[in-house]
Amino acid sequence: MRVLILGGTAEARDLARRLVESGAQVMSSLAGRVPNPRLPVGPVRIGGFGGVEGLAAEAAAYDAVVDATHPFAATITRNAYSACDRADLPLLRLERAGWAERSLSSWHWVDGHPEAASAARDLGGRPVLTIGRQSLAQFVPDLHDRAVLARVVDDRALDLPESWTVVTDRGPYLLADERRLLRSHAADVLVTKDSGGEYTWPKMLAAAELNIPVVIVRRPPLPDGMACVGDVGEVLAWLEELSPSGE
Ligand code: NAP
Repeated sequence: MRVLILGGTAEARDLARRLVESGAQVMSSLAGRVPNPRLPVGPVRIGGFGGVEGLAAEAAAYDAVVDATHPFAATITRNAYSACDRADLPLLRLERAGWAERSLSSWHWVDGHPEAASAARDLGGRPVLTIGRQSLAQFVPDLHDRAVLARVVDDRALDLPESWTVVTDRGPYLLADERRLLRSHAADVLVTKDSGGEYTWPKMLAAAELNIPVVIVRRPPLPDGMACVGDVGEVLAWLEELSPSGE
């Protein structure tokens, strides 16, 4: 099997490792957004495909595509759906479970970043934003005069208000550190996306412990009819069924 993995997540790296170990031919694809990305095992290509057409052309060299990109990387997921439809290629979405089932009464669910900015403005004067550098600009109109602490993986080329502080961290995010971060900033609201999974969960625990409300952005919907599974084992089983030899 020749498998193209659209990656940039821990699940994608896990899948690549397990497929390489099983002897499959794998290519992991990264967008190339961050310098020194965590690289998966096996071959890697880096950079955009040039939209649906480019992805369809490149994907045609594979037997199957797994879209294991981040739940908020909605454009590449839409493009993968259209490209695989066009190229008549099997496609499966691998997406970790969200946090909706763990929701607390102190969480405020919103549909997008502008709504999150306005909710954070209503809830506190010292917000902590953990929503990724690409979305920060959407918080400036509502929070430009607040003492914001923004945590990002990569702080290159950010143009933010003077009252904002930027800290860089790419994890692992430990509960004690998350507690310290929220306390040291005297945070009164935490803003996050529903990234799901365990890796960034400690900040939610720390906020709950410190009675800090959380504004949480709902995930964008998947394209209608897109097949989706929640763990790597299910992807491996799907690929095994697709494999002509059943191996
Ligand atoms: P996006 O808005 O959905 O995609 C924008 C464009 O980036 C796509 O149209 C595509 O360019 C290119 N692209 C995205 N993922 C790619 C991949 N895996 N391989 C090749 N090209 C890719 O994506 P994003 O939200 O900027 O996220 C970029 C990457 O970072 C994703 O791979 C994602 O898994 C990872 N990531 C995102 C987040 C997040 O919160 N959004 C968090 C953690 C990791 P072309 O149209 O030219 O093909």
